[in-house]
Amino acid sequence: MSNGLDMKPPGPRENAVVTGAASGIGAAVARRLWQRGANVFMIDRDVDGLRSVSSNADAHGGMVGIFQADVTDGEKIEGIFAEISRHGGVDSVVHCAGVARIGTVAEMDEATFDFVLNVNLKGTFLLAKHAMPFLVNRKGSFTAIASDAGTQGASGYAAYCASKHGVVGLIRSMALDHGPQGVRCNTICPGFVQTPMLDQLFADNPSDRAYYEKTVPLGRFARPEDVAELAAFISSPAGAYLNGAVIALDGGSTAGYFSSAATPG
Ligand code: NAP
Repeated sequence: MSNGLDMKPPGPRENAVVTGAASGIGAAVARRLWQRGANVFMIDRDVDGLRSVSSNADAHGGMVGIFQADVTDGEKIEGIFAEISRHGGVDSVVHCAGVARIGTVAEMDEATFDFVLNVNLKGTFLLAKHAMPFLVNRKGSFTAIASDAGTQGASGYAAYCASKHGVVGLIRSMALDHGPQGVRCNTICPGFVQTPMLDQLFADNPSDRAYYEKTVPLGRFARPEDVAELAAFISSPAGAYLNGAVIALDGGSTAGYFSSAATPG
């Protein structure tokens, strides 16, 4: 599959790159950005998913291109940014591609640990590394979707938690390194979000879903659109002073100890 599949010529407007755009949060971010008129360059390893998500973009006039790539393939990611830059530069990256695997350190094999760290942490590094020269040119914005597991422990999610803590540290360092060049780097840390990833995690224990939903002070899991709205805000002029922020988007789940039994009313 070649890069730039279904490419259409972009107009003089914001150019946004969204990874993990074939599903869940990334798909919602891509939709939100083309709804505000951005050219959206979507990256995912699932090309059928990319085609499906992008198929109704025309109505909003903002869709530009889809790229099939694994975010752990640095050479391919470098080539994609080079191609996108020929169509007018890069104003923002919202990096959503990620994987989750369940397991304690005792249960998990080394290959699974490496896989999770490679996709979630090294993938973020590769995206940032190859986007940065173009973001510097346009004084752009890099937003990574980490997780509430990036700021606190999560039982049974050892590798995922380690990878997301790594993403938070990486983005904070990027904010210090590249803020002076005009590039803003921020992290969104969602709690549970209703996506195919969550369905997969609860597939073996469906009763966990209701249990965990009760642990959220706002009483529901996030929708992908909740995350997309915040990602769109961060990369917009309204977010111009946000840099190095690690933003909890979890309905209050990480605000402190919560007991639904103690909730008034
Ligand atoms: P999702 O529905 O599974 O979507 C993730 C997308 O990323 C999928 O299309 C997936 O393709 C793609 N992807 C995975 N690994 C990739 C790789 N190496 N290269 C390219 N594409 C890859 O998941 P989501 O819930 O939207 O999650 C998006 C991000 O939010 C992830 O980083 C996740 O850790 C984070 N997050 C999710 C939740 C939640 O509750 N859902 C909570 C906090 C944080 P495949 O289908 O082929 O894997």
